[in-house]
Amino acid sequence: MRQSLRSYNCCRSWPNDMETVYVDGRAGEGGGQILRTSLTLACITGKSLHIENVRAARRNPGLARQHLSCVRAAAEICGAQCQGASLSSQVLEFQPRHIRGGDFTFDIGSAGSASLVVQTVLPALFVAGESSTVTVTGGTHNPWAPPFDFLAETFLPAVASAGFAADCRLIRHGFFPAGGGKVALDVQPWRRSPGRTLNLCVSGGERLIHARIYTARLPGHIARRQEKLLLQSRLKFENIEHIEVTDSDGPGNCVMLRLSDSLRTTVLTAFGQRGKPSEKVVGEVVRLAESFLRSEAAVDRFLADQLLIYMALLESGCYTTNELSAHLTTNIETIKKFLPIDFTIEQQGQLYRISAVRCA
Ligand code: AMP
Repeated sequence: MRQSLRSYNCCRSWPNDMETVYVDGRAGEGGGQILRTSLTLACITGKSLHIENVRAARRNPGLARQHLSCVRAAAEICGAQCQGASLSSQVLEFQPRHIRGGDFTFDIGSAGSASLVVQTVLPALFVAGESSTVTVTGGTHNPWAPPFDFLAETFLPAVASAGFAADCRLIRHGFFPAGGGKVALDVQPWRRSPGRTLNLCVSGGERLIHARIYTARLPGHIARRQEKLLLQSRLKFENIEHIEVTDSDGPGNCVMLRLSDSLRTTVLTAFGQRGKPSEKVVGEVVRLAESFLRSEAAVDRFLADQLLIYMALLESGCYTTNELSAHLTTNIETIKKFLPIDFTIEQQGQLYRISAVRCA
């Protein structure tokens, strides 16, 4: 039985129709996002989830600490019963009950990404019908995940434009692999207002580039060298800021480019790690920026896969992006398993325009 989302919005106790959604974690991109999206939408729809082959395409398949934290966090918010919620498990049963807002504290217990735990529970807290606070301890600046700056400056403003309001604060930095960082969020309940949707189709004109180099517990020459390499690229910078982090448990380095136009800020990041030359770190982030700037897309490749759940909740919305990533196409297929929504993808020159369409 399919239910319209309309009946879920702002309602704390909608009926669980006892439907189970079966998800194969090998599908498409085969990573953690299939699990996270499934958990989020199981909470929101009240449908039970049976997922197998969790993170089958990763080097260390199954639930790692970050994913286990996502399972536990989602379960706490919707009072779910779980089977298979243990480290390395590749099969999970998740039976949600009713979502509740409130004050939540989650500790990943490793450098697993705090942003990814936040992104798992956020849509459910938006529909909870009351305000919530969330504090997550773990990694705040991790490779392969949204760094805190992206969460604060790119992701949250994008969803806020469609009425999903949350503020976040960085309490402590946590770099991979030491972790120990902390982020806190205040989440307001989402009130659907007619006509308000997510429309990120045009960019806001000229983009100014601010670079931010983070180093923690590393020699000063690393940031100086990365600054020199940025200046040798073809990009023009408004400024290059070096932030020497003093509250981190372990070493860390990343180079961020903040691209701001009159409408929004896009934070692009590359991470340093032991044995990875600064040429490679700077080259990665410069290439991300060049591709994004060339295309004039409104949304970068990372935000593109993260907005889809919000468009599904809104049953509308569109954006343009410069890359059709495997995360994006896999996330579309996962969302469609839970909700009566479809997405169209139109190529327009160097851009892809993604729109949500409610199924008849
Ligand atoms: P998965 O690899 O399936 O665990 O998903 C990783 C998630 O992190 C996806 O939603 C990506 O868009 C997001 N992500 C990875 N790297 C970045 C980055 N540098 N900036 C923002 N988001 C990122």
